Formats: sequence, C-alpha cells, structure tokens
Amino acid sequence: MASYETEHAADEPSHNQNQPRRPDLSSFMSLLHEITPDRPEDRAREHAVPVPGDVSAAFRSLAEAFQFMQRDNDNADSDLLGNMIETLMSSAEHPPREVKGVDEEYIAELDRVDIKKVKKDADCPICGNAFVEDPHPLLVRLPCHPSHIFDLECIRPWLLLNGTCPLDRTDLAQRERDRKQKHLEEIKKNAAPEDEEEEWDGLYG
Ligand SMILES: [Zn+2]
Ligand SMILES: [Zn+2]
Repeated sequence: MASYETEHAADEPSHNQNQPRRPDLSSFMSLLHEITPDRPEDRAREHAVPVPGDVSAAFRSLAEAFQFMQRDNDNADSDLLGNMIETLMSSAEHPPREVKGVDEEYIAELDRVDIKKVKKDADCPICGNAFVEDPHPLLVRLPCHPSHIFDLECIRPWLLLNGTCPLDRTDLAQRERDRKQKHLEEIKKNAAPEDEEEEWDGLYG
C-alpha cells in the first residue's frame, strides 16, 4: 500500500516551511460519503443504517490523517490534537450506530473570519499553524465562542464526523438538530391555528 508519505515524497525538496502541509483527506471524504445519514441515495451501498465497519473506517481514516499531521508538523503537537485522535480511535473501536456530525450546509454557513481581524499570533488549535503564515487563509468561527476560530480545512472533517467543538465540546450538531426541530414545530403551529380551534370546539361543544 502506498502511503501518503511515499506518494508525496517527490514534493519534498520544493516544500516551503511557511506553507502549512495538510494531510490528504480524500479517502476520509469518500468513506464519510458512505455513512452520512442525510443522503442515503448517494451511497454506493444502500443501507438504511450505515455498516458499522464503514463507520469505523471513517473514524480511523480521520484519526490517521490527524496522526500524520501530528508527526509531520512541529506546531501540531498539542494535547488538543492528541485528545481528538484518541476520541476518533475510540469511536473506530466502538463505532456509533449513526454518525452525528453536522452537514455540509452547516459548514457552508459558518461565520468566515477575516484574516485582518485575527491577532497576529493566533493559530489554529488543530494544526497549530499561525493563521497569518497561511498564504490562503480560510478561517471559520464556531458559534459556541467568539474566540473559537479554526482553519476551515482542519475543522470541517471533524465537524462532519463528530459535530462538536474540540475546544469546549459544545455539541453543535445537536444544537442544530434542536433548532431545526423547533423551527418545524413553529411552522406547524403557525400553519394550523384553525384546525386547533376546531378541535377545541369539538371538545367543549
Ligand atoms: Zn489548522
Ligand atoms: Zn467552542
């Protein structure tokens, strides 16, 4: 099996220290595609519930990508990243029945942060790279706290799989499900006042 390292060994001499190197997430993304609950019709294998082996593989794949980041990037040796890898590995061992992450729509709607508005020494909590050193910074802020800013590329795969903020463990996916549920109930309530009146008439009439 060709590892990421061997495939990319040829790039090594031209590698610029200031360019953050990122793990290849393509195999993770295709595994994720197999287990994402909202679009079962897109799956190669049509199961109502994802196969535990597929769920396990997706968690393991992201854990390995983060491990690669941890080995390859001197800035990325934080406890936070270590804990994230541990969490992913334990989910790979005991795969949840469903993946409870956020969807791509949620990711697309996250607050974008202007690089000019972050502190000069601010870095991404996941990869540890200073935001200002990234030639093409793409930063997002999670709704749990104004200071919870990440590289989009680092936080996206984690959120799609886990749905939580790595810093304070706010369950953003659960929050989003609650918000949608409430929204649905409000639509129902507003759409059916006449029906309710008729029911009351029936009860007391
Ligand atoms: Zn990062
Ligand atoms: Zn947070």
